[in-house]
Amino acid sequence: MIKTVLPMRKRREMFLSKLRFSMGFRISFHYFMLLTLLGIFIFVPLMILFYKTDLEEYHLIFHIFGQEFYVILEYVMWGILVAYMIIILCVIRLGQKGVERLFYPIEHMARIANKITVNNLHSDRLNIEGTKNELKDLATIFNEMLDRLELSYESQKQFVSDASHELRTPIAVIQGYVNLLDRWGKKDPEVMEESIEAIKNEAKNMQELVEKLLFLSRHDKRTLKLQKTKFHMNKVISEMVKETKMVSKDRNIEAPCIEEVTVFGDKQALKQAVRVFVDNAVKYTRAGDTIRISCKNENGDCVIIVEDTGIGMTRTDIEHIFERFYRADYVRNEKISGHGLGLSIAKLIIVKHTGKITVRSQYKKGSMFMVTLPKRPMLPNTQRDAHRAESS
Ligand code: ADP
Repeated sequence: MIKTVLPMRKRREMFLSKLRFSMGFRISFHYFMLLTLLGIFIFVPLMILFYKTDLEEYHLIFHIFGQEFYVILEYVMWGILVAYMIIILCVIRLGQKGVERLFYPIEHMARIANKITVNNLHSDRLNIEGTKNELKDLATIFNEMLDRLELSYESQKQFVSDASHELRTPIAVIQGYVNLLDRWGKKDPEVMEESIEAIKNEAKNMQELVEKLLFLSRHDKRTLKLQKTKFHMNKVISEMVKETKMVSKDRNIEAPCIEEVTVFGDKQALKQAVRVFVDNAVKYTRAGDTIRISCKNENGDCVIIVEDTGIGMTRTDIEHIFERFYRADYVRNEKISGHGLGLSIAKLIIVKHTGKITVRSQYKKGSMFMVTLPKRPMLPNTQRDAHRAESS
């Protein structure tokens, strides 16, 4: 049985897969079959009843309008059958038109999807006006998907363009100094020294930028792996305070509160994130300013605060500082080095540890960055709320 049924089914499926029927045709055909079946159930028993009944026995042989009753009955029956067939065809035809109208969004969707390339993602959207139904819902989802693709593609494009722009400056500087060396550097030791120093700086600058770009791209490709262990965050902060005191002698580096606290996370990544806040505090303060670094244990949560009395930020800046390549205008004007990637990287790391960052800042007065790393990782859906920035 199986040996004969299965190959037959397979052959039938292969045959059907070569044919293409529109949805409208399929629905109409389905209803045609149902109505025909209904007709068969009604008319076949009627016919059998009619032709098999002994009319004489039931006294059905009489005349109406000069015709024998059973002859009229036969005409009426065939008439109803033909009318039924005509009604079925009319209903199917009208139904098919309705179905085609109903399926128009799908057809339109197919046409749009066929036209879409990366260069015209913004061009067409499906019309979702009028009453709602399942197809309109599908059209809305399709439009939203196109919006998301467009946004993601635009941000990728922006990222590549910003990254190229950032790399252009150090390359231009290196080229300038190489030309200088080529012309005068061979004979003038002063020019040679200055050029080598500048090239070294720019190469370091470029290396830092490329490393940041690689970090972000690994995150975007979801290949960024964190190696989480339990470690004492207070030790990491103490070391960082010591290092910063050594490197930035003209700033007042204070560590008013370093409490013992353990964190479960990637030590290197978290160190990199905290370093961003500390480096920024140094970068955006002037000689004589104070930088305060604390590490607190708040019921097992690790709270790291980096405060400074530096140039501060405006409310608009606070809203954008976690965006890639964002730098405040006055920071760009004062030519303070940086690429605008540090905070976006720090945020990625903190969020990956289900932590949150709070920012407070006042223009020309100073800034405060507070990182909270929870004792136990939060549930994934609370990560959305992980970043909160506020201005005071
Ligand atoms: P970068 O420092 O390389 O420009 P970041 O992403 O670390 O990049 O910072 C983005 C911007 O946020 C900075 O350009 C600056 O405008 C602002 N910012 C960050 N930290 C501070 C701070 N401590 N004080 C004032 N402004 C800051």
